[in-house]
Amino acid sequence: MKLKYLGTGAAEGMPALFCRCPVCARSMAEGGKSLRMRSCTLLNDEVLLDLSPDIYAQKLRFGLGLDRLKAIVFTHSHPDHEDSYALQLRATASCSIRPGVSPSEDVLALYGNQWVRERFEKALAEAEHADKERFCFHEVCAFEPFTVGSYTFHPLRANHRPIAVEDCVIYAVTDGKTAFLYANDTGELSPENDAYLAKTGLCFSVVSMDCARGLLPGDGHMGFQECLALRERLQKIGVVSPGTRYILNHLSHMNDMTHQEWKEFAAPYRIEIAWDGLDVDTEATAAP
Ligand SMILES: [Zn+2]
Ligand SMILES: [Zn+2]
Ligand SMILES: [Zn+2]
Repeated sequence: MKLKYLGTGAAEGMPALFCRCPVCARSMAEGGKSLRMRSCTLLNDEVLLDLSPDIYAQKLRFGLGLDRLKAIVFTHSHPDHEDSYALQLRATASCSIRPGVSPSEDVLALYGNQWVRERFEKALAEAEHADKERFCFHEVCAFEPFTVGSYTFHPLRANHRPIAVEDCVIYAVTDGKTAFLYANDTGELSPENDAYLAKTGLCFSVVSMDCARGLLPGDGHMGFQECLALRERLQKIGVVSPGTRYILNHLSHMNDMTHQEWKEFAAPYRIEIAWDGLDVDTEATAAP
């Protein structure tokens, strides 16, 4: 599977929109990989993991053919992961023209929890010319796997918001040959995930981890210590191998490091830092 990180920043982006803290100022001056749009990731050019409010800029920057997108799989309903305006545009016939595609085929599949569904329905209700027939929404729950084309998604329970507020998920994804873990947004995972993960029998060639907290202690996001602990835990469960790549994602100015600073800090731990435009091939990095 080919993953393309389209954005690797937290909700406020990096540098943050209205911020001039020291690391935002250094990132702005440095440019390049230190500039992070809000997080979302493309899987094999056909499935999008989350819908960033920067999706239009990402389309322009990376030359994406999003008209050919088959599905969007959401982790949760925070606006940096579920952009209502982009959904409204996709629902509006005059804004999203797809020659040669019949109306019955012009349906984008959406997968998300009930809070994602509520936000999606609200977005469509507020759009003047939205046609909800342009989407097919599938509700997902933690620990209930589902398939999207040739991929199986295993939703794990994230530790991001109180469950009563929103039961957020992260995903273990496989195409039957290789697998990866896409773990944002989440803090330290609850123990119930371990038994489920062990039962999947998966071996991740790539583990992508939320590190919005940087060197601060984790909360609803992980910090570096929680990322190290997650690696150890996955090793214990037996779902990774010595060849597994560990990549930090969803980075924020809380971590007080530019891309280069992060890279130098994390290298001795054999941990990589994502950047906007990073391509990862799960087969190329598959464990022996
Ligand atoms: Zn987020
Ligand atoms: Zn800042
Ligand atoms: Zn969030």
